[in-house]
Amino acid sequence: MNALAATNRNFRHAARILGLDSKLEKSLSIPLREIKVECTIPKDDGTLASYVGFRIQHDNARGPMKGGVRYHPEVDPDEVNALAQLMTWKTAVADIPYGGAKGGIGCDPRELSTSELERLTRVFTQKIHDLIGIHRDVPAPDMGTNSQTMAWILDEYSKFHGHSPAVVTGKPIDLGGSLGRDAATGLGVVFATDALLAEYGKSISNMKFAIQGFGNVGAWAAKFIHGNGGKVIAVSDITGAVKNQDGIDIPALLKQRENARSLKDFEGGDAMDPNELLFQECDILMPCALGGVLSKENATDVKAKFIIEAANHPTDPEADEILSKKGVVVLPDIYANSGGVTVSYFEWVQNIQGFMWDEEKVNCELKKYMSRAFQDIKAMCQTHNCNLRMGAFTLGVNRVARATLLRGWE
Ligand code: GLU
Repeated sequence: MNALAATNRNFRHAARILGLDSKLEKSLSIPLREIKVECTIPKDDGTLASYVGFRIQHDNARGPMKGGVRYHPEVDPDEVNALAQLMTWKTAVADIPYGGAKGGIGCDPRELSTSELERLTRVFTQKIHDLIGIHRDVPAPDMGTNSQTMAWILDEYSKFHGHSPAVVTGKPIDLGGSLGRDAATGLGVVFATDALLAEYGKSISNMKFAIQGFGNVGAWAAKFIHGNGGKVIAVSDITGAVKNQDGIDIPALLKQRENARSLKDFEGGDAMDPNELLFQECDILMPCALGGVLSKENATDVKAKFIIEAANHPTDPEADEILSKKGVVVLPDIYANSGGVTVSYFEWVQNIQGFMWDEEKVNCELKKYMSRAFQDIKAMCQTHNCNLRMGAFTLGVNRVARATLLRGWE
């Protein structure tokens, strides 16, 4: 099932549970604005290359739209549309004053040099600068982009509108980025896991984790899990996978990654087929990479008792049904990975206030937001007698619907 069909299906299910008016339901499912731009750049060898860039602005009832910009060969309008919609529900679940948006460029960032990436980012910004802004739409990093990408967007945007650090989040610290933003999605995932496990009288320590993806989300999550006494028994990324039933030495694996050596060559474990990661004997499975990895074809083979969706839309609705029948508890993406956008909000607040918080304050506020959102989701699950995904969706959709009705239609 494609990402948009899956997201719409979850949204419609939540709308039915809430008894939403059908016209309001329709209006909430259609994006506010879809931007598609052509970006042509000279490559380093002097030839021209053209790419298609998107920014899909889904909803702004609760505040400026917010969401990452993804550079990936498989970026397509349907996927960006689904991810933009998920951002609307995610910011509402986190109860931060934003709507949702997402952007992307269909390119393989690993095949572009740094100067080509800079040119591409600047051309993309030139094409969308009038439609983003501090109180309009605030981009951030996502897959294939990072703080340097945000620095280029900030610089290019500022040429048109004057110096505006709050126009992007996830910036380098030297340009007004927030302490703790890099680690925030991974740390938020760990706070979310803690909140869920506490419901079952369990904690992270001694639990066995399998982590798919060792990028900005997976690597930080693994580091904090290891630090909290959890055992990471398998990790995979695009370079390969490694397993060790006694627990992988995560600090050593992080060092290996710094030296750009493949996970499969790690000496503290056995190399394995990355396709086997999802089916490891473990307590907790964490997909931290691409969407759509759990489908009706493979969900029956999952052995974990809990799935924490650190990636966006890793589980399609048919897989959700299979997992639920097996008794697997799924902590949904729009809550589990909301730590990133929550600290983006703190960064935006610091930029607007012109006052920098220390890292302890950032992490302490993040923990508060993650705990509060979990309690709010739990209350929705109790009210509507539904699972955690529908608890999170009804919470987010209801907040956006209320804001929409209060603002009116004229
Ligand atoms: N790309 C991240 C996400 O999917 C962060 C978005 C943001 O900080 O605006 O939630």
